[in-house]
Amino acid sequence: MRKTAAPGGPLIEFDRVVKRYGDHVVLDHLDFAVERGRHVTLIGPSGSGKTTILRLLMTLEQVSSGTITVDGTPLSHMPGGPDGRLRPASEKYQREIRRKIGMVFQQFNLFPNMNVLRNITEAPVTVLGIERDRAEERARELLELVGLSDKVDARPTQLSGGQQQRVAIARALAMSPEILLLDEVTSALDPELVAGVLDVLRDIARSTDITLLCVTHEMNFARDISDTVLMFDAGRVIEAGPPERIFGDPEQARTREFLGAVL
Ligand code: ADP
Repeated sequence: MRKTAAPGGPLIEFDRVVKRYGDHVVLDHLDFAVERGRHVTLIGPSGSGKTTILRLLMTLEQVSSGTITVDGTPLSHMPGGPDGRLRPASEKYQREIRRKIGMVFQQFNLFPNMNVLRNITEAPVTVLGIERDRAEERARELLELVGLSDKVDARPTQLSGGQQQRVAIARALAMSPEILLLDEVTSALDPELVAGVLDVLRDIARSTDITLLCVTHEMNFARDISDTVLMFDAGRVIEAGPPERIFGDPEQARTREFLGAVL
């Protein structure tokens, strides 16, 4: 897989990002940065804004104020405003930036009418213009990576939830993202299927240089996979650090209370 040199500057940067729905402030002047190639996990109570961060990065939502930059390029604004200033980003501009980013959702969201191979090749062929033969070759490599080489022709309904999620991971990787967003990817799975999916993700974290931003309730997984854990509460990062410190010796009472409830 792709191995690139790490140029300077964070790959993802949130600068005083506010997201509100009506009067409800979900993200409150949020600052954080993710360096290229890092594995960052967001933990914290339900409703604290973790998924909103991923949805903003996917441009499924727009910021209320503040700036998000991806690889030094602002997500909400683009060049071409009056007097050399930036203007609000068009959908086309946002789509371009979003190509760097893949996301795996809680609900696998596979295309039900397509077999596994087609689920993985559809976007590379139609969006990136990759030749079908080449896309299929790559899809087979990715199915091997996620341990599903024998399911090339299966339909999503013929697969277990864990297998569907592994196809969804292969599908995201087929777009060669620089950033992979993982939104509670094991939450919808039966307990016995969780380990297989997490093993695949551990493998990806080890064997690629993709930057990972994960929201997870699996604290052991967070501990294993992360360089940095961000503890979230009420739309703010209240504590950040390496997993050994956040899990072993948290500074904030709120973090201790949260970990006490989930561990
Ligand atoms: P988490 O991932 O930490 O559980 P979320 O980011 O999903 O939290 O949600 C944060 C808050 O934003 C919640 O209070 C949720 O109800 C609210 N929220 C999320 N999406 C919407 C929406 N489309 N409209 C109104 N409120 C929303």
